Amino acid sequence: MRKILVCGAGGFIGGHLVKKLKREGHWVRGVDLKSNEFSASPADEFIIGDLTNQQLVNEVVDTNFDEIYQLAADMGGAGYLFTGENDANLMHNSASINLNIVNQANKVGVKKIFYSSSACIYPAYNQEDPNNPKCSEESAYPALPDSEYGWEKLFSERLFLAFARNYGMNVRIARFHNVFGPEGTWCGGKEKAPAAMCRKVAEAKEGGEIEVWGDGKQTRSFLYIDECLEAVDRLMRSDFTGPINIGSEEMISLNNLAKLVMQIAGKKLSIKNVPVSYIGVRGRNSDNRLIRQRLNWAPTAPLQIGLTKTFEWINKQVQATRPVLAKVS
Ligand code: NAD
Repeated sequence: MRKILVCGAGGFIGGHLVKKLKREGHWVRGVDLKSNEFSASPADEFIIGDLTNQQLVNEVVDTNFDEIYQLAADMGGAGYLFTGENDANLMHNSASINLNIVNQANKVGVKKIFYSSSACIYPAYNQEDPNNPKCSEESAYPALPDSEYGWEKLFSERLFLAFARNYGMNVRIARFHNVFGPEGTWCGGKEKAPAAMCRKVAEAKEGGEIEVWGDGKQTRSFLYIDECLEAVDRLMRSDFTGPINIGSEEMISLNNLAKLVMQIAGKKLSIKNVPVSYIGVRGRNSDNRLIRQRLNWAPTAPLQIGLTKTFEWINKQVQATRPVLAKVS
């Protein structure tokens, strides 16, 4: 049994991680600004608090945990990260969280610490061709992320690596590529593409129309949550520090993602591509050569399998909220 702290335990990945760690029999403390929205956390302790506050971090990181998973970040989907409106807050908040946690974890001698970076650190100039993006780990430099979210992640990668170098901290760093699944944000503006598509399709009437941002030709890959957690576990059990990509190599255009969700839902809808101010790079895909080689890991199932589970869950949420919305209006 390991003694583990999950920062960002009230979020999507953190919530799933806590459940997995508890199933495996570990002692877990969770911390977040909020509790999980969709199910109760099985954490042994769950502290509601703001990790931008060093005092709170000192109270939460009060012992030499076997492992810390640092997943807390001010984040959301494209509508939150790429408009520019939230840049100051998201940089300040996420950098403060990381500075506070790494500093205190070092002081108390935490045995191993995981940091969740992002595919958003990769340079914009390598992601202009939707059919041929380059996201191999070493291509991160010369750096030119297309968002302040990406710049903060790159800074914090370097922060964790500097603590490893100067103080011998045992760190692991992964660059997640679009992780999705049930119990993720599905409405309200912070949801990401798979959840947004599932919601739009679930809400649409047969023969209707759904909106897809941009021309829909932009490409991405999406990784189901269970696959992501397996890869994180392999990284933690390995002696490889990273940074390493954790993602899927099954690249798909956003219009085709919408069509796949329609097929899963059994609905025929038309797509309306709507212009938005900025939706991110033209193409992005995980490059899994390093993780295959170092951790012998690759996703086990195609996108359609995870997307089906996610659609079923979001469809239930949509059906459950419908009567409430009808009453209000
Ligand atoms: P999420 O938004 O669901 O979870 C992040 C959690 O951090 C939230 O519950 C939030 O309340 C918490 N948090 C934010 N500010 C805080 C603060 N000041 N104090 C305490 N808690 C705070 O996001 P997620 O999808 O679960 O992502 C987890 C991590 O993985 C994040 O660091 C994210 O940047 C990274 N990541 C995720 C993806 C993805 O596709 N989900 C991709 C790349 C990187």
